Amino acid sequence: MRTPIQDHDHKTDIIDHVNQDHSEELLTIANAHSPDRQVHSAGITDIYQEGIQVCITPQGNQNAYDAFIPFEIEGDLEEKILYSAYAAIVKQGGSLSGSRKRFFEVTATTQLTPNFTRLTVRSATPFPEYYPGYAFGFMLKTIKSAPKQASEPGNIRWLQQAGNRFFIWLMKRLSSNRRQKMLTSINKNVRLYTLRKAWQTPEDTATVHYGQIDIFTHGDSPGSLWSGSLNTGDIVMTRSESADKHPHLATGQALLIADETAFPALAAILEHWHNPVPPYVITLSTLPDEQNYFSDVRLPADAQLHQIICPAHHQAEEVLKIIARLSRFETVWAAMEADAAKAVRHHLRNVRNIQGKHNHTKGYWRLRAPKAG
Ligand SMILES: Cc1cc2nc3c(=O)[nH]c(=O)nc-3n(C[C@H](O)[C@H](O)[C@H](O)COP(=O)(O)OP(=O)(O)OC[C@H]3O[C@@H](n4cnc5c(N)ncnc54)[C@H](O)[C@@H]3O)c2cc1C
Repeated sequence: MRTPIQDHDHKTDIIDHVNQDHSEELLTIANAHSPDRQVHSAGITDIYQEGIQVCITPQGNQNAYDAFIPFEIEGDLEEKILYSAYAAIVKQGGSLSGSRKRFFEVTATTQLTPNFTRLTVRSATPFPEYYPGYAFGFMLKTIKSAPKQASEPGNIRWLQQAGNRFFIWLMKRLSSNRRQKMLTSINKNVRLYTLRKAWQTPEDTATVHYGQIDIFTHGDSPGSLWSGSLNTGDIVMTRSESADKHPHLATGQALLIADETAFPALAAILEHWHNPVPPYVITLSTLPDEQNYFSDVRLPADAQLHQIICPAHHQAEEVLKIIARLSRFETVWAAMEADAAKAVRHHLRNVRNIQGKHNHTKGYWRLRAPKAG
């Protein structure tokens, strides 16, 4: 018995999100499901209340086949898929994807616009070569000196794996509500910020890796206070990292949309633009001065730029007004407030017929009423 998901847009959002951003986790789920075959690639084709339908392509020239992978826990769809991925990774003795710790030394802080603070950081390990949209999960704390990045002794690795197994065991037993609370408390002091630029220079005997992180500050939120407290010489720490993919933007007419939190990703995408067709670009900000962020960004020749100044809760309606005036476009990259992103993503899918891998429209933050007191 397979029970269809009633909310078609919600189901498609999840399928697109997993296929676009979690292909490695999906590959691990497929490998765990087919231990006797080497899997080349996997993509979710459907989701039911009881499990996911995955199209698996084996390595070599073998035909792709469909597999139904049942869920192991109760909860909402995202939780069930997340759990399948974690359980498959732990079963295969791996560690959770992107859950790598890194330490950076702050070498400069600069005020770019009234609310943009740029951190320049130095790293002992290289940054990714292709960095547009690459994001780090920063721990909101500052430490005085970085621990030595020694290789992990076998017993620490074993302990980590035991910890992972315990985490999976615990997740399986908690009620959905308590699981959500646990994940919220684990992520309470972590904030995602994008690597705006990365480069390296030879210094003395070693190559030194530099990166820039641009933080949009707003009032006295934890991330804003943390970035404001940083000084040259401070050590900051990241707990996770994830890449963003843009092969869909390489050809055809593209539409790019970003609010302040996604200006760093958009600026890097524009600086790496190789598509001969210039993109349509929409930049959103609450204050006009924040648009100056782009004053030193090289835009592709003939890019059509639309600047929108509006409060965050008007993002969707203002973006949709501009989209209504645009003629045909085939691919989208967009990042903004979560509810606005959802409305725009659904409009692009259902009205402009931009589907699946051509429609990367993401929520980068959620508008919530500030806590009283
Ligand atoms: C992949 C990815 C990459 C990102 N890259 C960047 C980046 O390079 N630079 C950057 O500045 N942000 C970036 N963000 C967004 C950033 O992680 C969020 O804005 C985060 O919520 C900031 O944490 P905070 O402590 O300031 O606010 P929170 O503690 O999350 O929220 C506190 C209050 O502030 C409000 N709030 C949160 N963000 C905003 C905002 N942008 N504008 C107005 N109110 C807000 C909330 O609604 C809430 O009321 C990225 C997010 C993702 C998912």
